[in-house]
Amino acid sequence: TSFGFANVPESDRQGLVNQVFSKVASRYDLMNDLMSGGLHRLWKAEFINMLAPPKSGTPFALIDVAGGTGDIAFRFLDAVGPGGSAVICDISKEMIEAGKSRAKGRGPLTFVQGNAEALPFESGRFDAYTIAFGIRNVTHIDRALAEAFRVLKPGGRFLCLEFSSVEMPLLDTFYDAYSFNAIPRLGHLVAGDAESYRYLVESIRRFPDQEASAEMIRDAGFERVGYRNLTGGIAAIHSGWRI
Ligand code: SAM
Repeated sequence: TSFGFANVPESDRQGLVNQVFSKVASRYDLMNDLMSGGLHRLWKAEFINMLAPPKSGTPFALIDVAGGTGDIAFRFLDAVGPGGSAVICDISKEMIEAGKSRAKGRGPLTFVQGNAEALPFESGRFDAYTIAFGIRNVTHIDRALAEAFRVLKPGGRFLCLEFSSVEMPLLDTFYDAYSFNAIPRLGHLVAGDAESYRYLVESIRRFPDQEASAEMIRDAGFERVGYRNLTGGIAAIHSGWRI
């Protein structure tokens, strides 16, 4: 059976996404390692390298949207100097619970339940906005980008890590076979849930490619927008500035 996500009315999509993540929350981190063969760790390390948070005591506030179980915020807090602080905002209570139980002792860090399309924060509050493997889950990407722009200070940095379009011959063929067959099967074996992972693969396919994503980020008002491919474009990091 096909998940048929493309046929789901827009108004029901976020509800479906939330079901997926509430179901997989407790196995989420394990599945990431298995499905990406550990690659997501390298990509996330590179993501924090690009952010290059200040090592000094300068105050530096990060909001990590769709922050889930904390991978980005934790790496940020490890890299930033004593002035750093992080807020994880995620729509899923279950993913936040999983993140809180991993966070033990890390700080300064707060968890806030909220939707990327309507962030529960005042304007101009953050020095950086990150979103990793989150934006493709959002129903209205333009609204999420507008919110990213709004909550950033002038001079603030936007960084997005997301699956993208493979731009290497052979790798794309291999990747197709892998994602359509192996990923749902792994989802079935490890999380007892093939459908959620079929959704995941489908959402990656439907997502705009590198150039189209860059254009959407520019349309939201960001400047000096660029991107860098990771592993032949399996993932990409997009960067922009609120000037
Ligand atoms: N950033 C984490 C990482 O890289 O491991 C988690 C990524 S996980 C694939 C996607 C996350 O997006 C889930 O935790 C999900 O609850 C969250 N999410 C989905 N739709 C959202 C929305 N509209 N607003 C905020 N978070 C959302």
